[in-house]
Amino acid sequence: MAVPKRRQSQARGRKRRAHDAITLPNPSACPQCGEAKMPHRACPSCGTYQGRQALDKEE
Ligand SMILES: [Zn+2]
Repeated sequence: MAVPKRRQSQARGRKRRAHDAITLPNPSACPQCGEAKMPHRACPSCGTYQGRQALDKEE
């Protein structure tokens, strides 16, 4: 099996990992109940999406 001839420098490995950071979720307020919800998802608190009831939730 092929094996690297030289150890990669710290800078090279660190440069590769410069793009590995994860991004935080970007919740927005639900227009129905004001609870934080994820974009393009039905609200986990009241179950509405785009002004209609999308999930079975009893208030
Ligand atoms: Zn809601």
